[in-house]
Amino acid sequence: MLEVRSLEKRYGAQHAVRDFSHRFADGKITTILGPSGSGKSTALALIAGLKQPDRGTVHLDGRDITAVPPERRDFGMVFQNYSLFPHLSVQKNVEFGLRVRGAAAVERSARARETLALTRIEHLAERRITEISGGEQQRVAMARALAIRPALLLMDEPLSALDAKLREELRAELLRLLGELGITTVYVTHDQTEAMSLGHEMIIVNEGRIEQTGAPIDLYQRPANLFVANFLGDSNVFAAEADNRTGQVRLPFASANGSSPDSALKCWAMIRPEALELVRQEEADFSAIVESSTFLGNRLRLCLRAGDETLIVDTANRTPIALQTPVFVRVKKEEISTWPR
Ligand code: ADP
Repeated sequence: MLEVRSLEKRYGAQHAVRDFSHRFADGKITTILGPSGSGKSTALALIAGLKQPDRGTVHLDGRDITAVPPERRDFGMVFQNYSLFPHLSVQKNVEFGLRVRGAAAVERSARARETLALTRIEHLAERRITEISGGEQQRVAMARALAIRPALLLMDEPLSALDAKLREELRAELLRLLGELGITTVYVTHDQTEAMSLGHEMIIVNEGRIEQTGAPIDLYQRPANLFVANFLGDSNVFAAEADNRTGQVRLPFASANGSSPDSALKCWAMIRPEALELVRQEEADFSAIVESSTFLGNRLRLCLRAGDETLIVDTANRTPIALQTPVFVRVKKEEISTWPR
């Protein structure tokens, strides 16, 4: 079991990582998501032992391994540039970690073959790295990391050099593979879709700090703060008021939804685009004007003006709507998130 406690890493006056504590779910995939420069790679390098923290500790199965050099941690690592040996065959690349660990030739070969089968590239074993595609190289990098049967798999943006379709394909493949192996994995990415679809658990970081951790659906539905709400998925965020007693939210543009609460608390409210529905007038919480309408294949994204606010709304009804058309909108109230303002 992997646990990090109060990790901190500074470069000069700048904190790359601070107060970073987490117990990683055993046998599961944890994704670390954050904007560029938020400290994701540094956090991973601290776990890998490639960098030393200024403060804090790394524990594996209850043992403090902060001072253990990376080559003695037995972690599998896959990075964005796969750092494969171009002049060696796929098989020899996969055997590399085993060779370094002094495994006998017969065992090396058998283990490499087994891992190549697992990553579905057995047929490429004799090819050189220069003779296979980018997606296949990624599989080789995976196989090389897995061949040593690592205690932990660390991945830093492993798919980001690939095109969108291949990325999606390999994402599904990774889920299958890591699910089968049940290996504890820490996966760094700046791609939300990747982080949500791969992660059993997610860590959202910003400016070196953890903003929130949890299952992807919980983070999406119940973001802990404005940063997470804005960063993860699309959202409508605005100043609102909540009834002190009932907690009911009064939206600034939905004057129809009841009288002003007696004792109002100022709050921020967030509504996802799919939590707003176009309905008939008698079912509506408010009316709005269509400012733009974008066809996105499986849905229509509308930009609506309601009072002083601009709202984005996603609708499965894909019939185009003319600009400046008045529409009626219902809010799925159970899906509103709020924070004190
Ligand atoms: P991310 O992976 O989220 O993009 P990084 O962990 O690479 O972020 O970087 C976090 C912060 O630390 C950034 O502001 C970056 O510029 C800084 N940083 C990272 N590595 C170094 C380094 N070797 N020297 C100085 N600053 C660094």
